[in-house]
Amino acid sequence: MGTIDRDVPDFMDAVVNFAPKDFRFSREMETPKKPEHGIVVKVTGCGICASDVKCYEGAGRYWGDSVNEKWVQAPIIPGHEFVGEVAEISEKDSDRLGLCIGDQVTSEQIVACYKCLYCKKGKRWLCQEHDIYGFRKAVPGAFAQYMVFPENSRSYKIKKSVEPKHAAYTEPLACAIHGVSRGRVEMGDTVVVSGSGAIGLGMITALKAEKRASRIIALDCSDERLEIARKCGADILLNPLKENVVDSVKNICGGYGCDVYLEAAGNPVSVIQGIQMTMKGGRFVEFGVFKDKTELDWSLIGDTKELGKHKPSSANAT
Ligand SMILES: [Zn+2]
Ligand SMILES: [Zn+2]
Repeated sequence: MGTIDRDVPDFMDAVVNFAPKDFRFSREMETPKKPEHGIVVKVTGCGICASDVKCYEGAGRYWGDSVNEKWVQAPIIPGHEFVGEVAEISEKDSDRLGLCIGDQVTSEQIVACYKCLYCKKGKRWLCQEHDIYGFRKAVPGAFAQYMVFPENSRSYKIKKSVEPKHAAYTEPLACAIHGVSRGRVEMGDTVVVSGSGAIGLGMITALKAEKRASRIIALDCSDERLEIARKCGADILLNPLKENVVDSVKNICGGYGCDVYLEAAGNPVSVIQGIQMTMKGGRFVEFGVFKDKTELDWSLIGDTKELGKHKPSSANAT
């Protein structure tokens, strides 16, 4: 089968992660070659995730520490919140994927192995190998002019009417929707979303669209971000720098606390206050990526509140 391509240069601009605080810009990176099965994509947009920043800063989750094995495989081109245009594709893949040269595309951030226990159970987002673009050797990311979506990737066509700067938000929004689904929100629940960044705002938008929560409370230390949270659908805005948000949420909820707490701030304080303000039997969903450790009285989660605590592993690199 032939390959259809469009002037792909031999060299490209790219950022390469060598080590914590050692990300280098290069104008002479070799442009990735099209694998037998897989496509070359010209990158048109890429977001910078909190996980990219925390990886840059040297968080143990990526570089290894007493709890975590080293996971990032440097040197590697970062970037997993991307969109691009199909630049090179075989006729066979064009038929298989329903994609043509120039189509606007994105890909799920985790390229699953389809061999491990999780993949066989249909939970590919928990894949043992867990190759995420921009962190693992097998899947270089999108802080570059070109990238490859390999054979096991799951790509999605996005209408050209969606601008790249908006289309690049597909992956964080998908993560946010996944986080909300883990909260198992029921009709009439009060849901607190901690952090009004890209993920938190996506969660608020998803909660609003889902129409189950009776009240959506947004927490953030920035009033400016809280205003955006309001536009996305938050009913109540609370700034932890200006008030005791644990007391405020408990008061709003008749002294009991919220039904669901979605932690999307990645800050130890946000975890502790979340556990404190969630009602007994409530759900606490951890989604943030942390640089610092959190110290917590775990009996609060177990014996005292019997919280359903969820940490979707796809949140590794939200
Ligand atoms: Zn797998
Ligand atoms: Zn991300």
